[in-house]
Amino acid sequence: MTTSREVRLKSRPKGMPKLENFEVASVDLAAPGPGEVQVKNLFMSVDPYMRGRMYDRPSYVPPFQIGEPLQGGAVGEVVASNDPSLKAGDIVQSMLGWREAFNAPAAGVQKIDTHGLPPQAFLGVAGMPGLTAYVGLLKIAALKEGDVVFVSAAAGAVGSVVCQIAKLKGATVVGSAGGKEKCDFLREIGVDHVIDYKAVPNLTKALMEAAPKGIDVYFENVGGEHLEAALEAAKPFARFAMCGMISQYNATEPPKGPSNIMYVVGKRLRIEGFIVSDHFDQLPAFLKDMSEWIGSGKIVWRETVDNGVDAAPGAFLKLFKGENLGKMLVKLS
Ligand code: NDP
Repeated sequence: MTTSREVRLKSRPKGMPKLENFEVASVDLAAPGPGEVQVKNLFMSVDPYMRGRMYDRPSYVPPFQIGEPLQGGAVGEVVASNDPSLKAGDIVQSMLGWREAFNAPAAGVQKIDTHGLPPQAFLGVAGMPGLTAYVGLLKIAALKEGDVVFVSAAAGAVGSVVCQIAKLKGATVVGSAGGKEKCDFLREIGVDHVIDYKAVPNLTKALMEAAPKGIDVYFENVGGEHLEAALEAAKPFARFAMCGMISQYNATEPPKGPSNIMYVVGKRLRIEGFIVSDHFDQLPAFLKDMSEWIGSGKIVWRETVDNGVDAAPGAFLKLFKGENLGKMLVKLS
């Protein structure tokens, strides 16, 4: 018998989540049953979309249930296997994060061939956030060489990959992030114009100065004044890949709409939302391109890592306070 500690949703957050909305509990794990594996998680991911699952309302993923362990991306090591497809020592990916260990049918986890990358890269640059950047920029926004691209939350897991793919495809990139450390990182990865949105008095003005002829593409991660600035700076026929709007995830009142949404008509903008899970067919192409780009040093990444399952709720909260640089992770063992 093994003991695993897991994070459960204790109550539904109102506004910004608090540590009291979560609880950590211990469960006993028996040996895996027929066709099952036992996995010890190495790293788990915290992601902004998980906030949406804490509301009790219909969405593209079902809500988390009170008293139940949370779910999310994790990479782990098989410690015992009762299925011929997996053996002890294999590295696997699952949606059974927020816990130290678990038993699951072998078919419920995916073996990862790490190709020399650290396993946690498959929760970030080589995983769901990287694929989100790839699909959003290349497919939804249909990036072209020479485009001027504006990226919000540019120093985050998705944003930093968007910036680097845009650069290697011959675009000019304007990246917005909060604080000096993030802005320095953006300069390091070749972002042409960096805006510290927390330090500028007027984001629209800063964007117009960075891109005086306007932007062709906006990669939306934040919403609110970032979207208003992008609408203002958009060239006619600009394309907006609407990936997320983290500034609104904890809103307790209906957020104000962008006051200049009318530009969509006059500028003939194409604004398209997308969810990465609708684009898993792109995974083989993404993994092939990403391994080449990482191998040739064209794409680099940062991680912010907290330690232990008890730290997971706090790590999740950091996403909404901007306390992560690059991919926010929790190391579990
Ligand atoms: P990040 O690593 O970018 O972390 C979140 C960042 O958002 C913070 O570090 C912070 O950066 C910024 N932020 C938080 N609150 C605010 C706020 N109120 N105003 C402005 N900025 C804020 O997270 P991800 O890369 O994982 O996700 C980025 C976006 O992509 C999110 O909107 C997420 O929901 C979305 N997403 C969408 C997917 C899809 O399928 N459509 C899939 C994956 C992610 P800073 O300090 O710079 O403000």
